[in-house]
Amino acid sequence: MDQKTDMKSLTFGELKAALIDMGEKPFRAAQVYQWMHQKLAGSFDEMTNISAELKGKLAERFTYTCLTPVQVQESKLDGTKKFLFRLADDNVVESVYMRYHHGISVCISSQVGCRMGCRFCASTLDGLERNLTPSEMLDQIYAISRYTGERVSNVVVMGTGEPLDNYDNLVIFLKLLNDERGLHISQRNITVSTCGIVPNMRRLADEKLQITLALSLHATTDEKRKRLMPIANRYSLSEVLAACAYYFEQTGRRITFEYSLVGGVNDTDQDAAELSEIASGLCCHVNLIPVNPIKERDYVQSAKARIAAFREKLERNKVTVTVRREMGRDIDGACGQLRRRHIENA
Ligand code: SAH
Repeated sequence: MDQKTDMKSLTFGELKAALIDMGEKPFRAAQVYQWMHQKLAGSFDEMTNISAELKGKLAERFTYTCLTPVQVQESKLDGTKKFLFRLADDNVVESVYMRYHHGISVCISSQVGCRMGCRFCASTLDGLERNLTPSEMLDQIYAISRYTGERVSNVVVMGTGEPLDNYDNLVIFLKLLNDERGLHISQRNITVSTCGIVPNMRRLADEKLQITLALSLHATTDEKRKRLMPIANRYSLSEVLAACAYYFEQTGRRITFEYSLVGGVNDTDQDAAELSEIASGLCCHVNLIPVNPIKERDYVQSAKARIAAFREKLERNKVTVTVRREMGRDIDGACGQLRRRHIENA
């Protein structure tokens, strides 16, 4: 028998073609697709209007991705929940559920580990294990919906991994997530965050999706950025900013700049002045993130007053800016910390 196909990563058209190839009527594809992507079935067995015979044939030909939570931590402060999911090959990934006034937002991982090496980030400490499939990205959202019984309205690809280092799977995932036959999450409610892989930022722009692109900027000069993010050795700030401008031109979507404030490293008045300059050149929004210290590095958060002064300086320069609310401070906060702790304790 050939290798099985990952059914939940197929587009509707691909699933239909596969079922017709098996001698099934096209309407079966609509039923199965609906079970997977709308009713969020956890297995073939749950598909009650599918005959036992067809379920057997499906199981012979396809694998069915379904993530199981191995750990759920819930914040007593704001209801944020961190999920650790086990994948079929026993790798684990983490996802976060956040409740905002505008609905439920889920932050998902795009890879097991990461090879980008950002100095302040816990996700990258052990390097990249493998890419996630489209179905493994989707099922983080589906599993959270199954667990909470709530509809997810916003998705941010800001967990472990570099989404633009897993480009093809990311784009399939985005299309499945937005499909009206599935959860139909509006493209405008989806954000993809990148450390700045320039060629793939441009490719994503050419897909002409209405998703928000967030760039992890974190520094205003090449020299400083290289100290925090190895990717800056590959692509200069001017190339990255030109790719942001191109994304805006192609999609009309305002860019988000993420700027993690690291005490004594990138939080001076001069940094704020330079950031204002960069932000003024482009239709954007700046999101300041007080760095979440990890024990493997000695980076510290900027003092509260410094964060406020930095923000005011940007505001005085007419930059649209928000300081990210620190959700779930009482549970393993920063990206990749829950997974790391799990691996360390295994
Ligand atoms: N690889 C993607 C998405 C994952 S990280 C990217 O680089 O954008 C999501 C955001 O959190 C990025 O801006 C990242 O730089 C930031 N981040 C990672 N670890 C952090 C930490 N310990 N404190 C603050 N921000 C952090």
